[in-house]
Amino acid sequence: MDDREELRADLDAWIGREGDPQLARDPVNPAMIRHWCDAVGDYNPVYTDPDFAAKSVHGALVAPPAMLQAWTMRGLRPPEDASARPAPFTEVMRLLDAAGYTSVVATNCRQEYRRYLREGDLLSVTTRVAAVSDEKKTALGVGRFVDEEMIYRDAAGEEVARMTFRLLKFKPPVSRADAQAKAPAAAAPARRRPRPAQSRDNAFFWEGVAAGELRIQRCAGCKVLRHPPGPMCPHCHSLDWDTVTASGRGHVYSYVVAHHPPVPPFSYPNAIALIELDEGTRLVSNLVGIDPGDIAIGLRVRVEFTRVDEDLVLPLFRPDPF
Ligand code: ZN
Repeated sequence: MDDREELRADLDAWIGREGDPQLARDPVNPAMIRHWCDAVGDYNPVYTDPDFAAKSVHGALVAPPAMLQAWTMRGLRPPEDASARPAPFTEVMRLLDAAGYTSVVATNCRQEYRRYLREGDLLSVTTRVAAVSDEKKTALGVGRFVDEEMIYRDAAGEEVARMTFRLLKFKPPVSRADAQAKAPAAAAPARRRPRPAQSRDNAFFWEGVAAGELRIQRCAGCKVLRHPPGPMCPHCHSLDWDTVTASGRGHVYSYVVAHHPPVPPFSYPNAIALIELDEGTRLVSNLVGIDPGDIAIGLRVRVEFTRVDEDLVLPLFRPDPF
């Protein structure tokens, strides 16, 4: 049996087996519901207003269905429970890590709800690995898809919801950053920046950039400016629009400086800013001509049309005055 067949057999031994049920720490309760609703901005009063809920079809407060996972979630590194049997999911992850599939990305999540959850419901969840694919080639690297299935039950053992979760465990390609650090002279041929996605909605913007102008879409009905461009005015729903040419001046509304992981062809630290133009709209761009440590919210900036390669000009921003 070669390594691959051996891994397949080891994985198959865990597939279909349910782990021990995990009991929620707290029953469904209004405090957690309020926090969740605040966090996601869901203000349906049937979740938070007892009087409203009493008069609704539910007759009492219910929990947002999409909050399902919150009831049994144990955090990234829950305390070890030495008595717990190895959970099939943990074992499958361990086998895949050991085989070199050390990176992970979630690729799909599907939830099915049997009924609304009410205050006092105490959930438990059992997890099983439904499937692990053979090795696939993906844009991220070679990997295997893992289908995890969670069944949520109430205190009476009735299924209330089910979630299927698909993730990809993959072998990280040899890091370009590592390769470059070891042999800067032998670095891979320079990669070009990704091309901006262009569509009929935003073609005017890129035509403006090519002409050395920063153009902003303006509703022809109510004259409100908008960015990013779109076909319909969110204020008056007009489909008619024209553009205005921005002064190119504005300020840093917010920003982030990315240090890791370095992704070619960008240079690091990479200062990415949300620029609020003096005209009022905001756009995301890079800051240039400034030490990342000197960037501050409110910093005055001015657009600079920078040719980054033979057929790409981007509007970047530089401290103003400079
Ligand atoms: Zn409008």
